Amino acid sequence: MSREDYEVIIGLEVHAELSTKTKIFCSCPTKFGAAPNTQTCPICMAMPGTLPVLNEKVVEYAVKAGLATNCEISRNSKNDRKNYFYPDLPKAYQISQYDQPLCEHGYVEIDTKEGKKKIRLTRIHIEEDAGKLNHDEFAGGSLVDLNRAGVPLIEIVSEPDLRSSEEVEAYLRRLKSILEYIEVSDCKMQEGSFRADVNVSVRKKGDSKLGTRTEMKNMNSFRSITRAIEYEIDRQIDVIEDGGEVEQETLRWDDVSGKTFPMRDKEDAQDYRYFPDPDLVAIKLSEEYIENIKNTLPELPESRKERYLKEYELSEKDANIITASKYLSDLFEGAIKVCHNPKAVNNWIISDISRILNETEMEPIEIPFDSKQLGKLIILIDKGTISTSIAKKVLVEMFEHPRDPEDIIDEKGWVQISDEGAIKEVVLKVLEANPQSIADYKAGKDRALGFLVGQAMKETRGKANPQMLNQMFLEELKK
Ligand code: ADP
Ligand code: ZN
Ligand code: MG
Repeated sequence: MSREDYEVIIGLEVHAELSTKTKIFCSCPTKFGAAPNTQTCPICMAMPGTLPVLNEKVVEYAVKAGLATNCEISRNSKNDRKNYFYPDLPKAYQISQYDQPLCEHGYVEIDTKEGKKKIRLTRIHIEEDAGKLNHDEFAGGSLVDLNRAGVPLIEIVSEPDLRSSEEVEAYLRRLKSILEYIEVSDCKMQEGSFRADVNVSVRKKGDSKLGTRTEMKNMNSFRSITRAIEYEIDRQIDVIEDGGEVEQETLRWDDVSGKTFPMRDKEDAQDYRYFPDPDLVAIKLSEEYIENIKNTLPELPESRKERYLKEYELSEKDANIITASKYLSDLFEGAIKVCHNPKAVNNWIISDISRILNETEMEPIEIPFDSKQLGKLIILIDKGTISTSIAKKVLVEMFEHPRDPEDIIDEKGWVQISDEGAIKEVVLKVLEANPQSIADYKAGKDRALGFLVGQAMKETRGKANPQMLNQMFLEELKK
């Protein structure tokens, strides 16, 4: 049998770091990148006798995430201890939620080749992150940094509804953009604030029982996730085709070799001995509390996308790219308010801005200029103050040293020459220097006109108004 005879089943557990200012059970800051162990206190270092106090914002953000993903919000919830030993977990238990998660039974809608598909969410619960081990090759040991210990997380568990690596990517992108829109997480994958445990199994088509799954933990790049899934599908099918059985185990994906390897600890055989944390009170939420949070939800990506298709007649593809990021989407709408030219804003975002983001590996949120400045740039083109080719240079400058586009063209002397006298002067000069082109044009070679315009552009270092040049050359050539 071949790969076509198998069905792929994938379920994800996504961890998103919440962007609260302080940790989940103490008032330590959560900023990324501080010197090791500078954002710690007796509570998050697990000193005996300390007591955790639940950060209200964490509940609010988790409820917000639940509402934005169509979950039912539990009126009664609690925190439980998940017991295990690990060097970066000083309490030897993690405070999480077991049988009463804050949110349950939601779904996220994705676009697939076959149309829209709902991926069901089993639950969303709150928990604390662990610290970080830094393996020190020189000293031959490991150093513990507890800055991250106690940073609040939500864990979003999906049902095994995903059927391919493409669906996984679509799901993760949609989920990430929803969390960004509701501003509960910055979802910076490279900083680990949005990461996924990927559970993969295969079964023969037509089988009703799920196959045995393997799990790859803490994956934080789309590319690795796709590669790891594809590798794991092939590996599992090979095992079965060879008459073997897939073992339920935790695997480590190695980006360099492009393979998965078993992790030595048998995570899945573990018994966490969950029990309610006696140091924390139950979480009881009123209807009014939930209603108030519902009222703060902004328009979500799916709805914005539909609106852009209707209101601005964007293509499905462009609308998807722009609405995937709240920042790009806000940039789009803000710039339109300034220049009233949606087509142009769409083009600039999809082409030049996206290209620069790709080349510099920048996230949209890191774009250094604002929507007003983008709008002004487009007005300058529409008014004929600068040409499109100059505008592209202005944009690069806006990325490098963000300031108003007018200031940039003033400083650089990039204003387009639209003065008739000045244009005429250039046209005459170019014609005089290129008698052969005049002859060519008169002999019916239209390409000669393009050459002359090009020469005039060179002469003015790209600053001449191209429409005016064209027109004036035509007039002179007719004479
Ligand atoms: P844990 O990994 O903590 O033991 P669960 O057993 O609830 O938790 O499963 C976690 C994830 O694994 C869920 O996202 C679920 O959809 C997925 N999953 C469960 N069984 C399978 C399977 N046979 N194949 C693929 N994914 C699965
Ligand atoms: Zn602390
Ligand atoms: Mg798991």
